[in-house]
Amino acid sequence: MSASDLRHLPAVEKLSHQLSKSQPLPKALITNFVQSQLANYRAKILAGERFTREEITADVSSQLDIFAQSRLQPVINATGVMIHTNLGRSPLGSRAAGALNQIATGYSNLEFNLLDGQRGKRASYLETALACLLEAESATTVNNCAAALVLILRTLTTADKNEVIVSRGELVEIGGGFRIPEILETSGAKLIEVGATNKTHLKDYAKAITEKTAIILKVHRSNFYIDGFTAEVDTEELSALAKSKGIPLVEDLGSGAMLDTEKLAPIEHEPRAQECLRKGIDLVCFSGDKLLGGPQAGIIAGNADMVARIKSDPFYRAVRCDKLILTVLQESIDSYLDSKANPELSDIPVLNFISQKPADLKIRAQAIIDCLPAEIANQLDIVELDSTTGGGTMPKSKIPSAGIAVKSAKSTASQIADAMRKQKPALVGFIEDDTYHIHLGTIFPAQDKLIADHLRSILV
Ligand SMILES: *Cc1c(COP(=O)(O)O)cnc(C)c1O
Repeated sequence: MSASDLRHLPAVEKLSHQLSKSQPLPKALITNFVQSQLANYRAKILAGERFTREEITADVSSQLDIFAQSRLQPVINATGVMIHTNLGRSPLGSRAAGALNQIATGYSNLEFNLLDGQRGKRASYLETALACLLEAESATTVNNCAAALVLILRTLTTADKNEVIVSRGELVEIGGGFRIPEILETSGAKLIEVGATNKTHLKDYAKAITEKTAIILKVHRSNFYIDGFTAEVDTEELSALAKSKGIPLVEDLGSGAMLDTEKLAPIEHEPRAQECLRKGIDLVCFSGDKLLGGPQAGIIAGNADMVARIKSDPFYRAVRCDKLILTVLQESIDSYLDSKANPELSDIPVLNFISQKPADLKIRAQAIIDCLPAEIANQLDIVELDSTTGGGTMPKSKIPSAGIAVKSAKSTASQIADAMRKQKPALVGFIEDDTYHIHLGTIFPAQDKLIADHLRSILV
């Protein structure tokens, strides 16, 4: 081994400078990245491997491209999955985004009382509006629904009263490793499973109650459904049992539908927080960025005393929302309260997507195709598709929708998919029957021109 074996290793400064011309990332980050890549090459060369300078340069450059594409950036969702967990769940409406801009770029009365000039309470307007919308005694918000559930469990259990009763049919995994049994464990609660996967009866709950029972927990099967020989206990009956034993009844709803979903499209009814509370649930929690269409947040609503206890837990401070989230939530909640009076007004993209008509989507698809030259338009077909709400909401929902199928003689479906993801902004479609599809059900009308541009640059 001689030092001359290292002669093909490019100089960090020079290579970084060269790469910074094609990648608009911070210079310091590029230098750092190149340094670590070259250190790997140095180790490999010292171990006896051989590379030309061109090989090294080309590889570091492509590694940098791979790294750069992981930067958070806008994506066009052409999958037809409205609340796409991998694509950032619910988009915000323009009203919420506008408010965010105002509060984010200046000072605000986050914890300041404008009447007396004294310190004020964070989120007090929002909590009142939320309670009004949810028809709840009280409500509060934290960073996400997982945190909300952990807080509820922490608050309502103690060292010697820590048993939480859950039906075996509701021991769900929501995604991202969020499993109900594990959440219970991290919260110091002891899981008491009752019933069978398909059937749980009131007597199963009744038999499991001991002096150590802290909570009866219902978990909404938000991302799957069971069908066939099934039974679950009515919330009203379960509530009567819980009340007679003085045990809090909690429901993790997850999805957070505010409106009657079956009125928006021919889809099933998704339970709403209002309904759960009316049926006797003491505390309900759900996500802010699923069907609610707000920012990622966990919403807790119900019994005023329990909500107050949750807010006084030191852990609440660790998961409370920052001003940006609170701003967007406040605007989303106000939007809902306004739209109650005027159902036409909807600044919530997911709800607009749900209520779109396939005929209107076909008109948009035709307009996209019509603005393309014949040799590209020939490769495109308008097709009927179903969209879904996704994101662990309404697993049965299939909403009639439409899109564009791309049949290319030159490229395979996966080559088209790769090329579309490399566009700016990236377009994420889906492949079915070996055909690449662009689902218009989740594309904003303002993005139609970009779709045409991307098709034009890829299908030449
Ligand atoms: C999505 C979901 C959660 C987790 O919500 P996050 O906001 O992602 O933390 C918890 N419970 C249920 C039932 C869900 O559907």
